[in-house]
Amino acid sequence: MCGIFGIITNQKNISLGKIVLEGIKRLEYRGYDSCGIVTLSDSKLYVKKDSGRIDEIQKKIDLTEFPNDSKLALAHTRWATHGAPTKNNSHPHLDCSGKIAVVHNGIIDNFIELRKELAQKGHIFKSETDTEIIPHLIEIKMKEGLNFKDSVIEALKLCKGAYGLAICHADHPDSFIVVRKESPLVIGIEEGKTTYCASDIPAFLPLTRKCYIMDDDELAVLKAGEVEFFDINTDKKIEKEIQLIEWNIDAAEKGGYEHFMLKEIYEEPTAMKRTMKISKDLLRIFAKILWSAENIYITAAGTSFYASLAGKFIISRFLGKYIQAIECSELQTQLSNSLKDESVIIAVSQSGETIDTIEAIRWAKSKKNVKVLTITNVVGSSLTRYSDHVIVTQAGPEIGVAATKTYNTQVLTLALIAIEIAKLRKVELDSEIKKYEKALEETPQIIENFLKNNVDSIKGVVNALEKSVNFFFLARGISIATAKEGGLKLKEVACRFIEGYSAAHAKHGPIALVREGFPIIFIAPPDETYQRLIGNVMEFKARGGKIISLVVENDKNITELSDITIRIPQPGDKYYNIFSPITFTPALQLLAYYTSLHHGLDPDKPLNLSKTVTVH
Ligand code: GLU
Repeated sequence: MCGIFGIITNQKNISLGKIVLEGIKRLEYRGYDSCGIVTLSDSKLYVKKDSGRIDEIQKKIDLTEFPNDSKLALAHTRWATHGAPTKNNSHPHLDCSGKIAVVHNGIIDNFIELRKELAQKGHIFKSETDTEIIPHLIEIKMKEGLNFKDSVIEALKLCKGAYGLAICHADHPDSFIVVRKESPLVIGIEEGKTTYCASDIPAFLPLTRKCYIMDDDELAVLKAGEVEFFDINTDKKIEKEIQLIEWNIDAAEKGGYEHFMLKEIYEEPTAMKRTMKISKDLLRIFAKILWSAENIYITAAGTSFYASLAGKFIISRFLGKYIQAIECSELQTQLSNSLKDESVIIAVSQSGETIDTIEAIRWAKSKKNVKVLTITNVVGSSLTRYSDHVIVTQAGPEIGVAATKTYNTQVLTLALIAIEIAKLRKVELDSEIKKYEKALEETPQIIENFLKNNVDSIKGVVNALEKSVNFFFLARGISIATAKEGGLKLKEVACRFIEGYSAAHAKHGPIALVREGFPIIFIAPPDETYQRLIGNVMEFKARGGKIISLVVENDKNITELSDITIRIPQPGDKYYNIFSPITFTPALQLLAYYTSLHHGLDPDKPLNLSKTVTVH
């Protein structure tokens, strides 16, 4: 997930460099590993790029300085998926002739095969990215005699995956091409003067409010102040209507959402669909290592720790071995005398920069011959340097301080590993494994349905609980992870005091606080703990507690005992219950978000918290 900005103009008195820099900076929320710009003059491409934040790069190389007669430029701010965030891996990427430049948002799934074929034909690659194959494929098609547009179309027929692309050619100074498949692209236009393309509207909103929204499988040829659209499959021209954007720039950056937290909750289904595409080979490597390990630990902090609690439960189910979860800050003290050679440590960190996780791993590696399997959202982050194998979740940048979509993609990644383990071990019948796999594949849709239809009911719960300052989040089994994570969200963004606890254990202490109307949120998927949970609900109800329960659609028993229910639209069988931390948590994220608003707080900036904790 990165930011693309492009411009082509016939206006003489504008500062192209300044417009491009400001445009790409407005997309920096989409990725901030590196930045690059290409412009064109006298049949030559001029490229400037480097790693780091845009402002840092601008201090080193003036990104705004273009040849005087430049009328076209493409810019990119990267969120690395393939290859570390280095200068060489930054976009734009060029073909061998240096005539074709490409900026890309997305992933080319079959790039390894294509890269091998291209290398065999003598093409030279300068980066580790998947993107770089695209200019080379276009180069081949042009050498075969096709024109620029047809070369792009034919080249993309060879690529599988997702892309938002902007492509220019040194010998075509009067136009450039953009294509969209599963990665967003919009076109802004000042008719007769200037045309823009961008991954998101804010990039050009201060310059024009007129735009076209591109759909999948569409290609556009942009000229100064004009644009033509084509269907990439039929090559037929498409007529599209101009839309007038009414948002202000701040709202536009958040895609029309009031806060990044809400936007990121709504991005969960898409982020999860991207994460589902993690290479099976990589998942299998994780699965095999875990299968052959004697001692397995999982370590993390904060939300990643709760994702680990959920994930270790799912993996243990299919692996048939216990996995010990240890907060990363405690790993050294807890294992100082017991860490053994050949142990496996799974490290989970959104940013890959959490200092306590890095230190735990460094300590373990310095003491014993251990294997470290890392799950992070950031390619090339520090943690990955100390890891034997790394899976990068595909949540994209998360700006809201409270983790939401990254939690779900972490649990999903651990669940995908669990499924690979099940396939390897064959302790379940193949037909059973398929049912689990199908249920997991349906999780993004379940979340999407919930988010579409339940905002009002969540707001109703917020109103009903407006006077409460203290809450219990209780559950049994795997749902303890959901209780802890859901409670943590309310604590972080709505400043309520919560205790996320085992429902059984809660009668050994916390129950002492329950008075008339004390809110207790029970997480109650109909799994093997359900019957016992009924007993716990009754214990708290008998003492006057207000019972709010999270249940599946057709739930009856706990519903009858509850004052309020939040219903998750999913079947109530074991294939779905095991993944309930994924499908139930968004409801609690939404509850935290609207409670925060109700109390006049800013959910994007919780007091005393920062996104990446790099101090002990
Ligand atoms: N896959 C490309 C890369 O790693 C593009 C990433 C993106 O969409 O940010 O460079």
